[in-house]
Amino acid sequence: MSNQQELSKSRGFLLPKVRRVIQMAMLAVLGQWSFYGIFRCPFLVPFVSCEVCPVITCWGRITSYFWGFWLFLPLSVIFVGRAFCGWLCPGGFVNQMIGKISFSKMRVSNQFLKIAPLGMVLSLAVVLILWLGIHNPRSMVPIRVGDFWNSIQLSFEHASLSWLVRTFVVLGLVAAGLFITNLWCRFACPTGGLLEIFKGMALFRVFKNSACNDCDACLRICEMGTRPDEENCTNCGDCLKTCPVDAIKFGRQGKSDERYNQIQTKEEIR
Ligand code: SF4
Ligand code: SF4
Ligand code: SF4
Repeated sequence: MSNQQELSKSRGFLLPKVRRVIQMAMLAVLGQWSFYGIFRCPFLVPFVSCEVCPVITCWGRITSYFWGFWLFLPLSVIFVGRAFCGWLCPGGFVNQMIGKISFSKMRVSNQFLKIAPLGMVLSLAVVLILWLGIHNPRSMVPIRVGDFWNSIQLSFEHASLSWLVRTFVVLGLVAAGLFITNLWCRFACPTGGLLEIFKGMALFRVFKNSACNDCDACLRICEMGTRPDEENCTNCGDCLKTCPVDAIKFGRQGKSDERYNQIQTKEEIR
């Protein structure tokens, strides 16, 4: 193995560790935001009605002070597809950690798993109906105390049935990740669904070139149970060095495939 190959291999093994460190840092920065969204946001759809929300301690209010914050997600999709899910989202990190102890990894390829991600599109549709269709009703008395357990208890005590249903559905689907790895992020998250719809336009991505022989080695190590550039791939990069035929690359897809085909043609001529 050449020095160059050894260097790129060691970088490949380092990448998942770097990703974990970044995810932990993002949990520290944005984790409280997710906590508010699930347990303390009085609206059915969190983070979209912050400008009229009376919970003044919520981190979600940053979006009402600085609307440009929301530009980050579309910009990140244009450049790196669903990388927000693989690298930055605190919810994704928690789901991936639950996935570590789940009973079934479900890292296989079958027809059901091909269509199951449509669940994300379905939940996105429900969110849009709640938000734009019935104007995101406030369905819980805003809880202003800061204490963690106390605020959760008060939220449940003062919530309407609709808030309880949405919260138990979300928590239930996250907990179901104990039985099917990453169930929430693979099949149910509306934000993931939105990113999934638009990730096709990404300039840079993890992808497999025409050397791929469908061995599925990448799928078996993937936390999202998928293969590069297929449904649910988050550009996390964990699989970059797992391919036995070195078919997995990161960058602009067309360019790399051209290079691969040129090398193949030269070898065939020899
Ligand atoms: S699917 Fe949803 S919860 Fe999971 S990482 Fe993406 S945005 Fe976060
Ligand atoms: S490990 Fe490589 S050859 Fe096997 S399925 Fe993945 S990309 Fe294709
Ligand atoms: S296919 Fe590779 S890059 Fe895509 S999510 Fe799975 S491990 Fe990450």
